[in-house]
Amino acid sequence: MNFAVKVYPRTIWGERYHGNFDQLTDEIAAAGIQNLIVPAFQGARIFFAQQFDPEPNPWSLLPLRELCAQKQLGFAVEFPIFNDRDTFDRIPAFRPQSPDGQTYPPDFWYRPICPSHLDFNQHRLHLIEGATANLKPALALINFLWCPFLPRPAFDTAETRSGTETWEEMGSRVPMFCVCPACRQNFTEVTGLANPLQDIEAWFAFRSEQIINVLADIEEVSQQSPAAPSLLLELPPIATPHFAERLRRLTGIHLEAIRRLSSALSPQLFYNEHGQSPAWPLAVLDELAAYDFSLFPQLDFPELTAFSEDNLHEFVFLLQSLETRKIGALSLFHWENIVPLPQVLNIVEQFSYAVS
Ligand SMILES: [Zn+2]
Repeated sequence: MNFAVKVYPRTIWGERYHGNFDQLTDEIAAAGIQNLIVPAFQGARIFFAQQFDPEPNPWSLLPLRELCAQKQLGFAVEFPIFNDRDTFDRIPAFRPQSPDGQTYPPDFWYRPICPSHLDFNQHRLHLIEGATANLKPALALINFLWCPFLPRPAFDTAETRSGTETWEEMGSRVPMFCVCPACRQNFTEVTGLANPLQDIEAWFAFRSEQIINVLADIEEVSQQSPAAPSLLLELPPIATPHFAERLRRLTGIHLEAIRRLSSALSPQLFYNEHGQSPAWPLAVLDELAAYDFSLFPQLDFPELTAFSEDNLHEFVFLLQSLETRKIGALSLFHWENIVPLPQVLNIVEQFSYAVS
């Protein structure tokens, strides 16, 4: 199994490592993990040198990238698109709105941005261009490239119980986010319709167009750079069955349409965070197998205080299940959560070196 681990700035420059890249990469390599994935920017913070920086950026990932190359660790970057805490806090017009005019409730960490603002999208592309030129990643993960939604209703047990009836209702409801004035205006310009409810399929198609247009721009910008990284599109946690159709309606990600731009997907199978059993990640992968994508799934781990022997059994079960499905790569979410768990690191090491 080929492992990657997500590493966040809070971990890299926080209490455990204090920016000691040598120790960080040694510990990751010792666990048998072959790749690091780090965000190139987060909110207003930028982790690469820009052309007109008045002084050297103290939060540069370039030395980490160079150290990874020396130690033969893969170095991939993550580009978070419609999630930006600082912009959400600073510019109220960019906050997603529901049909009844409610603003998206600020979460602990997820602060989504409405996809209808060209200036925000252009700024994102500019950052991607700069990060790709400076950090020269071979692989770039595109994260949060979706219309904002609240993950929890997707896992509503009432919905699961009521089955197809609720599922069918989903096809006639306007998803809760985003239906702000900018989205409505863009929709009217494209379709001539004043209200999404006049033609709900036109609304779904409009949202999918928004997402694919941004992905096409990202693809163009990254392919123009000498690094020309492969793109890996992250998928948010969505319930099954009918994963792909729920994904399209809730988030605007239309798998058949994005196939021409991206050949690899990284579904976020955070079953611990969403209180699901390991059956859910496998159900997602089985549904995705019907599409022609390379799969690079992500698994999460519970908080240290909630971690039990059962979690270890589940982890081994899931790794074996991935091997059975011929999925040879897995991303672990995230390093700070698993570094205090030597049992997990032992399992990773065993699977990393196992000959399959
Ligand atoms: Zn909007």
